[in-house]
This record gives sequence, structure tokens and C-alpha cells, in this order.
Amino acid sequence: MNTNIQELEPVLETPSGVVIIPHKNPDGDAMGASLAMYHYLKLLGHNATVISPNEYPDFLKWMPGNDEVVKFETKRKTAKRLIDQAELIFTLDFNALGRVEDMKPVLEKSKATFVMIDHHEQPEDYATYIYSDPQMGSTCEMIYHFIDSMGHRNKIGRDIATCLYTGIMTDTGSFRFPSTTSLTHRVIADLIDRGARNSDIHNAVYDTNGLSRLHLLGCALKNLVLLEEFNTVYITLSRNELEQYGFRKGDTEGFVNYGLSLNKVRFSVIFIEDTQEDFIKISLRSTGDFSVNEFAREHFNGGGHINAAGGRSDLPMEKTVARFTGLLGDYKAALTS
Ligand code: 5GP
Ligand code: MN
Repeated sequence: MNTNIQELEPVLETPSGVVIIPHKNPDGDAMGASLAMYHYLKLLGHNATVISPNEYPDFLKWMPGNDEVVKFETKRKTAKRLIDQAELIFTLDFNALGRVEDMKPVLEKSKATFVMIDHHEQPEDYATYIYSDPQMGSTCEMIYHFIDSMGHRNKIGRDIATCLYTGIMTDTGSFRFPSTTSLTHRVIADLIDRGARNSDIHNAVYDTNGLSRLHLLGCALKNLVLLEEFNTVYITLSRNELEQYGFRKGDTEGFVNYGLSLNKVRFSVIFIEDTQEDFIKISLRSTGDFSVNEFAREHFNGGGHINAAGGRSDLPMEKTVARFTGLLGDYKAALTS
């Protein structure tokens, strides 16, 4: 763990303009952490705003505070003004300013003091106050510990509890990934006691699919290729396929995990063509010691965690897949021994 976050305590005593930023294409953990922090800072009397770099899936839009989120992509002027005026900027659930893409130059110009709370490997050094712990299963669990360390656990009411529960649930694969600890479960128990309605939250996130998601899942599973020799699976989804089944943002979330459900498979990757720009978004998952963080960093301009990472390719699909399969020989021992 790398932290000096306790030093933030006196800083938070003076009300100020605060902006809270999740990474681009925010997931449940990034939005849950940002909205929980928003509710907490408002309780302390700060003038806080969440600015998301871009749009996020509908299955996250029921969270308390969602309607107050400013999207940089569509409200650039408002977002820039808020960032210019901010004294404090929280960057949550990411470790490198590049993860906000187009927003990066705006953040670099800001004179605000930066705070990073995050659980990805190898954090960059842009924040004055940092709480980085790659052992943690989610940034939301860290926000809980952060609020607790400020002596404010009793300020966690239903709204904060609901947002934190959501992010812990989504980033731990509903409490099944190895990063889930007994402490995670203690935090979850306390969040339920403080008003998080666990069953309703699972339902709101996982049981509100549109038909497009299920049709795309069918397509993805049909496209799945098992490379037995490497205990590896890859899946492709082309722009044509996404359009054919009526793709909506968030529809492909979690598809990559199906690869790992096959017996013996240790490495699963999905390649998804972007529907707007010419690049391929890559999601990588593994079990055990095989680090997809290293693999994504080295070969696909990405990163993340040991068992869950992302990256991108600017080559067309066929060439991207050929490049990927060509790399596997070098990893055969790690994937099979
Ligand atoms: P996902 O595959 O669900 O998009 O992302 C898996 C994990 O890797 C998440 O923790 C996410 O924040 C991280 N991640 C996804 N894409 C990238 C990327 O392009 N660069 C880096 N450094 N991390 C990524
Ligand atoms: Mn996360």
C-alpha cells in the first residue's frame, strides 16, 4: 500500500470547490466510488461535482446522485469551468491521467490539488494525496476505508452505502474474485446495515438487460475460439455484429469472463471493434499467477490488475488476432505449467 491520505483530513475541514473524476467508460466501481465520494463531500459542506469523461451504461444510471453527473463529452464548457474553479480534484479508480483521454490536457492545466484513490498496479505520480492499494478488490472498498479513517463511518447513510455496495459487487464479480476478503464481507455487512438494499442492487445492475445484450452474448459465444495448447480463449466482436444486434453501451460488459468458465482455461481475451473510432478495445482476464496487467502493458498499450486488464489495438481485427496468437508461444510455459 502507498498512502499519505491521512494528511487530507485537515484539508477537508475547509469547504471548497471539488471535482470528482472516474476513468473513461466508467464501470460500476468508478461510478460507485465517484458518487459515494460526492455524497460524502457534500455532507462535509463542499461544493462537489462528479465529471465523467463520457457516457456510461444504463444499468448504472439508477444510482443516487446520477442526475447531477456532468459528462465532459457533451458538456465541455461546464466541465472546463468546474475544473478551472476547483481547489481539489479527486481521481478515482484509475492510476494514470491518460485514462481520462480527452480530459487529460484540461486536468494538466488545472492548478487544483490532486487526490488519487485507486487499486490498479503501478500508479503514476501526479497526485499530492495518494491512497493506492492493488491488493484491494475495488476502489469502493477503499472509499469505505478512507471515510472510516477520517473518523466518519457514522456519516455513511443509505446513499453512500448503496453506491459503495454497487462498486464492490461489480469489481469483485459479485464477491467471487480472489481479491474478495473477509474484510470485504465485513464492509459489505456494514453497508447493508447502513441501508444498502443488496438484493435490489443486484437486480438493478444484472437483471435489467435489453435484448441486444443477450443476442450479442449469443454472437460472442459463437465466435469464441479455444486454443487448447495454450489454455487460452479469445472472442471477437466486429462493428458489423455490434450494429446487427443493436449494440448499446455496456452490452458487452463481462462477456470476457465466460472464457474462464471453460475447464483448464487460464487466459481469456475479447476483442471488440469500436463503433465510432478505428480501434479495437481489448479486455483480458486470467486466473492464478498469469499477469494480464503485464501482458496488456507490454503488447497492447494498456494495463490494469494481475487478473483483469484492458488495452487497445490500432490494427484491423484479423491482424490484431494474428498478433495476439503469435505472442502466445512466448507465454506457453506460464499458461500450461
Ligand atoms: P475492462 O476489461 O473491464 O475494461 O477493464 C479491466 C481492468 O483493466 C479495469 O480495472 C480497468 O480499469 C483496466 N483497464 C481497462 N482498459 C485499460 C487501459 O486501456 N489501460 C489501463 N491502464 N487499464 C485499463
Ligand atoms: Mn475498479
